[in-house]
Amino acid sequence: MPTRTVDVIVLGAGMVGVSAALALQGRGATVTLVDRHGEAADETSFGNAGLVQSEAVIPYTFPRDPAEIANAALNRDPRAHIRYAALPASAQALWQYFQFSNSSRVAETAAAMKPLVFGAADEHRRLAEAAGRSDLLRPTGWIKVWRTAQGEDNARRDVEALKQYDVRVNFLDRDGLMALEPHVGEAGRGGAHFPDPLSTPDPQGLARAYAALFVQRGGRFEKGDAMTLEPAAAGWMVATDAGRVAARDAVIALGPWSNDLARTLGLKLPFFVKRGYHRHYEPRGNAGLGRPVLDLEKGYLVAPMTLGLRLTTGAEFARADDPPSSAHIDRLEPFAREMFPIGEPKEAEPWLGRRPCLPDMRPIVGPFPGKPGLWLDFGHQHLGLTLGPITGRLLAAMMTGETPFLDPAPFRADRFG
Ligand SMILES: Cc1cc2nc3c(=O)[nH]c(=O)nc-3n(C[C@H](O)[C@H](O)[C@H](O)COP(=O)(O)OP(=O)(O)OC[C@H]3O[C@@H](n4cnc5c(N)ncnc54)[C@H](O)[C@@H]3O)c2cc1C
Repeated sequence: MPTRTVDVIVLGAGMVGVSAALALQGRGATVTLVDRHGEAADETSFGNAGLVQSEAVIPYTFPRDPAEIANAALNRDPRAHIRYAALPASAQALWQYFQFSNSSRVAETAAAMKPLVFGAADEHRRLAEAAGRSDLLRPTGWIKVWRTAQGEDNARRDVEALKQYDVRVNFLDRDGLMALEPHVGEAGRGGAHFPDPLSTPDPQGLARAYAALFVQRGGRFEKGDAMTLEPAAAGWMVATDAGRVAARDAVIALGPWSNDLARTLGLKLPFFVKRGYHRHYEPRGNAGLGRPVLDLEKGYLVAPMTLGLRLTTGAEFARADDPPSSAHIDRLEPFAREMFPIGEPKEAEPWLGRRPCLPDMRPIVGPFPGKPGLWLDFGHQHLGLTLGPITGRLLAAMMTGETPFLDPAPFRADRFG
């Protein structure tokens, strides 16, 4: 088969890669999107909680309070789950994560992330409208529910920190919570409602609608292994089931697998994954939820999805390829039964995903150091659904020589020295 030549190869068809492909195409580039699956969004971008978290300017931090760290380390805090065998391999990245979680560095990350996070919802609205699937974005906002006075204090403190960014929030007592979510159990004493974020009942459907738009506009989607990427005469080349594709530029957008390819090509990063699970449940009777709701003190979220009520867990610290375990979701399920109208699980085993993380909780968006024509767009941690489209726009601007809408320096690959 002859080699096909295009302007850009985008490796990885999750929300991040699909969005980058669309943004590059929108600037006139011919683009081929390559994924090892025959369809878009079969991995992390399928299984998330469906929140376009346009309030999440302050990053998810590592705990700083020694008692909290000790509790988490002993697996006594259900918000996280540690597989101890993984610790030696990820100790250095986690240590850096701890260091980046001090208040001044968190403020730096928040300042850098602000234009991305605040621009995320509009970017999605534009793409969903162009794809003819605005129905997949709902203006529901989401709620953090507390169980105790201590939980309420913590929520109010977190919200206080968001005030400087003008994030809108409504505090709800039990009656207010019932008015919005009448099926939340008595364990929920009140909550903080963020009214502006969007939610999707089908994150995979949303990413696939964007992928369909890309193909409809003339882009090509090929099945292939990104690990075959190699330098070629005029740029980069990758092997696909439809033959070899060459391009001046290539983008690594492989989510949690991005580091495997980056490392092979000589880039050393403090990359780690926060694994997370989901499982769907039948609603009990006619009960349901109108929006995603987080059980703040237990650290899991339940979202109303097309496939059922989706329970998603917080972070499991394990090696990316450790076998899945139902331990975390098994710990959380009894709490979820107190709080939510969930009936029988719909799947025998939970789904496992991996949030791709860097210790400063910022993605990498920009050039691969020392490799002309190679670009990076990964590490979107808890926010890849939210930020995929807007980081795609940022990357496309950088690749096409446009002045980006923000300073891209905080997202450089070489920021870790
Ligand atoms: C439980 C959970 C809940 C979450 N909730 C939210 C949320 O509510 N809101 C939010 O914004 N974010 C959320 N996230 C995070 C979000 O899902 C991720 O940040 C995002 O999906 C990452 O997208 P991606 O495109 O980078 O990666 P992926 O979606 O994983 O896509 C990577 C693609 O690369 C492909 N690939 C990998 N290796 C190869 C190879 N060798 N060759 C070819 N292709 C390859 C894969 O097949 C895949 O399609 C959640 C994550 C989890 C785990």
